[in-house]
Amino acid sequence: MKVEFQNSIPVRSTTLGDFELTVLSDGNYWLDGGAFFGVVPKPLWEKRLAPDVQNRVPTGLNSILVRTGKHTVLIETGIGDKLNDKLRAIYQPHQKLMASLEQARVAPDEIDIVINTHLHFDHCGWNTVRHGDQVRATFPRAKYYVQEGELRHAHMKHERDRVSYMTDNYDPLVAGGQMHLLHGDSEIVPGISVKVFPGHTRNMQAVMIRSGAARACYISDLIPTSAHLDLTWVMAFDLFPLETIESRKRFYEEAIAQKWLVLFTHDPVTPWAFVEAGGGGKYRLAEPEK
Ligand SMILES: [Zn+2]
Repeated sequence: MKVEFQNSIPVRSTTLGDFELTVLSDGNYWLDGGAFFGVVPKPLWEKRLAPDVQNRVPTGLNSILVRTGKHTVLIETGIGDKLNDKLRAIYQPHQKLMASLEQARVAPDEIDIVINTHLHFDHCGWNTVRHGDQVRATFPRAKYYVQEGELRHAHMKHERDRVSYMTDNYDPLVAGGQMHLLHGDSEIVPGISVKVFPGHTRNMQAVMIRSGAARACYISDLIPTSAHLDLTWVMAFDLFPLETIESRKRFYEEAIAQKWLVLFTHDPVTPWAFVEAGGGGKYRLAEPEK
């Protein structure tokens, strides 16, 4: 299905038990369609996400704000405003997250928890902002969370994926004691926990949100959009594609049985939806987005 794109998902909220979830956007950016859909032939993927003349597809940058009543949690911080000119020309970022937060009536110092699922530049860009030659936390009161193994990998600067990491997004927070490093599945605060799903990177963590019987999961780059639900529709960016498939199976087993609301990090249209199995490794949205 071809759809018309706005340059970001509009800010809107839904409830999950006693919690309120709000989708915020840093604005769409562009990714190469071939890279986004890996080994899937273009005649198949272009039916789901139409490319432009340069074969690029619009890619959402969806953050989720969770208000639990006690905590104000921000999951993921988009691309941010620190890209150099070359990367700015490639990705054409809209840098909308702060305006999006304002629209949701949240001041940066009200955020007390920031969770990064991993440290690729398009997931932690607004972690920090530049003031002259200093880089500071955008959210001064927040504790930030990421997996220790993800930080270790980022610091390796491996030839395969070093372009995806920008140290200014996290090193100043580590040095300042504001970045808390996790070792595997962990509870952050009551109702908010993280679960490691290897594949995209070795230590990418999804964020589990639970209030009463209701559950949601920010699945991040394990399933970046609702066009990537099928087990083998794996991005070329993934370091461990076979593990992506295994992690997806593990995810669907619980997510479908327990009716998790799935929150999509890069979907330019659908920020959240329920998912159901279609048979033969295929999956689909269970009902229209709320
Ligand atoms: Zn990533």
